[in-house]
Amino acid sequence: MGFRPFVFKLACHFSIAGTVTNTSEGVVIQAAGPQIFSFIEALSSEAPPLARVEALFHRPLEKRLQADSFTIVASRSGASSRANIPPDISVCQDCFEELTDPADRRFGYPFINCTNCGPRFSIIETIPYDRPKTSMKDFAMCGACSREYLDPMNRRFHAQPNACPACGPAISLHDSQGRPLKSADVVAAAITAIIQNKVLAIRGLGGFHLCVSGCSAAAVTTLRDRKNRPDKPLAIMVKDLLLAEKLCVIDDQEKRTLNSPQHPIVLLKPRPDSPLAPNLAPEMSDIGLMLPYTPLHHLLFAHPDCPAALVMTSGNISGEPICTSNDEALDRLAGIADLFVLHNRDIVTRVDDSVVKRVAGEIRAFRRARGYAPEPLHISQKLPEFIGCGGGLKSTFSLARSTSIYPSQHIGDLFNTTSLSFYSESVDNLKRLYEIEPVAAACDLHPDYLSSHFAVELGLPLYKIQHHHAHAAAVMAEHNLEGPVLAVVLDGTGYGTDGTIWGGEILQADLRGFSRLGHLEPLPLPGGDAAAQEPWRMGLSLLYRLFGEECGMMDLLSSVDPASKNILVQMLQNRFNTPLTSSCGRLFDGFAALLGLTTVSTFEGQAAMQLEALARGSLTTRWKDILVGEIEGAEPYLKKEKEQRWEINSAKFVKKALDDISSGMDRSAIALQFHSWLISCISRLVEKLSGTTGIRDVVLSGGSMQNGILLEGLLFSLTELGLNPYTGARIPINDGGVSIGQALIGGMQHVSRSTNES
Ligand code: ZN
Ligand code: ZN
Ligand code: FE
Repeated sequence: MGFRPFVFKLACHFSIAGTVTNTSEGVVIQAAGPQIFSFIEALSSEAPPLARVEALFHRPLEKRLQADSFTIVASRSGASSRANIPPDISVCQDCFEELTDPADRRFGYPFINCTNCGPRFSIIETIPYDRPKTSMKDFAMCGACSREYLDPMNRRFHAQPNACPACGPAISLHDSQGRPLKSADVVAAAITAIIQNKVLAIRGLGGFHLCVSGCSAAAVTTLRDRKNRPDKPLAIMVKDLLLAEKLCVIDDQEKRTLNSPQHPIVLLKPRPDSPLAPNLAPEMSDIGLMLPYTPLHHLLFAHPDCPAALVMTSGNISGEPICTSNDEALDRLAGIADLFVLHNRDIVTRVDDSVVKRVAGEIRAFRRARGYAPEPLHISQKLPEFIGCGGGLKSTFSLARSTSIYPSQHIGDLFNTTSLSFYSESVDNLKRLYEIEPVAAACDLHPDYLSSHFAVELGLPLYKIQHHHAHAAAVMAEHNLEGPVLAVVLDGTGYGTDGTIWGGEILQADLRGFSRLGHLEPLPLPGGDAAAQEPWRMGLSLLYRLFGEECGMMDLLSSVDPASKNILVQMLQNRFNTPLTSSCGRLFDGFAALLGLTTVSTFEGQAAMQLEALARGSLTTRWKDILVGEIEGAEPYLKKEKEQRWEINSAKFVKKALDDISSGMDRSAIALQFHSWLISCISRLVEKLSGTTGIRDVVLSGGSMQNGILLEGLLFSLTELGLNPYTGARIPINDGGVSIGQALIGGMQHVSRSTNES
């Protein structure tokens, strides 16, 4: 975006004659002039912040150029269709300065934007990306805006959402019934309500936010009660980096990310002495922080009475997609919000805030949405037009064509009809935007995922991809690995080829198939899926594995009532509703419960996060050295019955840990030992498997790898063993990446099948 005007300005600077145009191959420039080589060099060295020059080729012109000036040639209709759909970008510095300059005609205007910033993906209806094909089509530009739009030297040349107070969209204030409230200053009225601990619903860029003061425990409690969200951390927004640093511990890499054009939510450690409401996040947990990314956000924070932090959490009913339209929000958020700040620029595509975290030295996407979607991932394989339908939790889907995979924005957990309709509406949307018509599809092996049903109903050749194979392939896609690799996938749950629940897997994988070489010892999962919400169940399962029915009498898991424990023991004895699982997430749950952390969790990964936070308390600079020493010592935990796969025996370790607990050892040290034990067992096993297979590339993936101690430890110890570990950063290693792996494996399988058939 903004690349042709940039070329134009550069051409003027170097006195170049010729043309620039967008084609399906990319940007084509015809140029002539004595300073041609300086011009060519400046094309990549001075490219605007949002442009990424992936490759630059030049060759002599076939015939002499007639022109003596430089012009921008309109893109041929359809030609730009293969061009990328740009993501939504936070307010740029130039626009911010105009927004806050009383002399500027856009002073205080909540929809200021230019070619370097503003809405894109969220407002585009069809391509090519032109104003009549966006939700700005209803706003006719005034004279002043048109002149900017048509002037190649202006920052707003061809800025499709260009607008001003005279001609563009506007904000308005409404009560909980949707009745408009007369207010000369909507921002001031919103701030007054926030200080009074009211809950606001604010229509934003990709959807609604629910907003309360982040410094008022009472306001946070109200929001939590109304949203039925008791513990899960709430994201906050603060005015700027300076203030952010007063609230959280932030390193340079995190600062750059907070301030990047994407402005994602960054998960950070809150400072103990910060003025933040204590109930924003459970003890020891990270907090999601972002900086203002729309003009309206800046206006709220510019008000002198604005609290130091505002909660900005998704404007949805728990488990549903965020609301985008005014009517939808007034209807669904009526019981939650006291006041609505609406606007009249339609949101065409729902896009949540992206979430990233610095784990093991790199910023990694946990939720890839606003600012990143729908940018493609480039691979070296050639795929047919294809769709990977994703999984069940944190779902996404991915379209593919040729050497590109286009992952959708984060859709969310796919458990009800509202989220399914968001999902299928997004599939249609992205297919239209990229003009991709899949000839085949891939889905998860799990027969009950709504995404699997969706895939079946497409009526296309369908490839069912094992969940953890897909996890592995997502990392392979990001690093352009062909395989074979050894894949360590530590995860919550995924349907296995044997019908049991997998989740602590070591696979040998390439882009077409895999074999399961090892896994965590399978344990009964009492109550099936319910066990994921109630970590004490896995705690009891671990005890049962060691002590049989006696385990109901033990004084561990003391916060659980004895009757419930007895029922569970009976289930375990009778093997009633106790499917086996090798899940790593469930092992973390069980161990956390035994250490007296969460017994019942209200959001996914809660127990594992607490276990990691507890372990962090014992981390020292010597930890990694100690870790290397422990790898040899992992041998007794590995077992392999002849012809069988390797198993990592967790019961043995749990037994030892229970002895440590009863001898009064520090729980934080035990929590760290658990991490170290798992890292050393996996490292030792991977080392063995590398020896027998000759494979040295190791891929690390799965939701449990979001645990920083685990990921950092594994990257370190595998490197020490002379292996090459890889993991995800741009693509989530959690289930958000599964559809990318599916698209790659499924696409490759379809290519093989088509070639074999012909
Ligand atoms: Zn701008
Ligand atoms: Zn205007
Ligand atoms: Fe998974």
